[in-house]
Amino acid sequence: MRFYAAIAGDFSYILILHPSNKVLHPFIRACTLLDSANQATSNCIKDGAFIDVGQGDSTVIRTGPHNAIVIDTGNDDGAAARCLSQLKITQIDLLVLSHYHSDHVGGIKSVIAGRQVKAAIGPGGCGGEAAQVYGILAQAGVALAAAKPGTQGVIGNVKWQTLGHSPADAEKHSCPRNNQKTESESELNDLSTVFIAEIGTGFDAITLIALGDLETNGQTELLGDLIRAKATVMRDAAPALWASQLDGLGRGFDIVKVAHHGSAKQSPALARRLQPAAAVFSAGANNTYGHPTQKALELYQTVGATNIRTDQCGTAIFTKQDETLNLTCLRN
Ligand SMILES: [Zn+2]
Ligand SMILES: [Zn+2]
Repeated sequence: MRFYAAIAGDFSYILILHPSNKVLHPFIRACTLLDSANQATSNCIKDGAFIDVGQGDSTVIRTGPHNAIVIDTGNDDGAAARCLSQLKITQIDLLVLSHYHSDHVGGIKSVIAGRQVKAAIGPGGCGGEAAQVYGILAQAGVALAAAKPGTQGVIGNVKWQTLGHSPADAEKHSCPRNNQKTESESELNDLSTVFIAEIGTGFDAITLIALGDLETNGQTELLGDLIRAKATVMRDAAPALWASQLDGLGRGFDIVKVAHHGSAKQSPALARRLQPAAAVFSAGANNTYGHPTQKALELYQTVGATNIRTDQCGTAIFTKQDETLNLTCLRN
């Protein structure tokens, strides 16, 4: 793995070289934010961004000049919505809610405001902010489907699939008034929907896995899913490139959105299994949780990843061309 960085004006460019080790000029890569919507090219469509939402999560995967898959919405400060506007996203083809903590769903109102939402999936249950989220989506006329292990689809040039463990009442997206929360914060984190995407085709495809806020139990179960029979079932219907990753036979993922903002609860076995080229830590600057932790950073470095931190990088844009994965930091 080789690493290049260059600074130009307000933008900081980081190139991460995949096994082909081809060096491309950094300045041709950052098309996403720089092009107007009218100038968007097919290259620019095969990309996405980890949005700097402070202490929280929001990831966007472009599916068309004005379309995207959005995974989580960050906090209620509107940061994710502002970035989607910058990206000229007017239609959300798929809204993925990993779980119902406010740092993941707090921005849902502003994210869906003025945008068409074609489909939404979430883990179900009534913990955290679930009831509020169900209400907001219902009011907006957006149907929320259960994200179950193996739920999958194709949108434009993006193939996607979910893993993770939904609660028993995953199908039920309504909660009784005065709902008593029964899950602990950790249990809610462990119910996170894991989202896998293959963006583009062939060797220029980007493989990405977003781990939500999985903690120890959730990561252990995910690892089991990747290894055992469930993975075999899913592999049969899985996009080709990461089918071998499920078996642990192929190359690693291009990008892992590291679990729980890089808390200390990280499974070394899972990190080794995923073996990402880039590990993205979505965390707020100087956050009180100490995320990302040194332990998590060192773990992913040990498995060969280049670490990208949104608290240092700002929003991180990713693209891939000629087998070269590029991440571009847009500093605040
Ligand atoms: Zn979180
Ligand atoms: Zn959480």
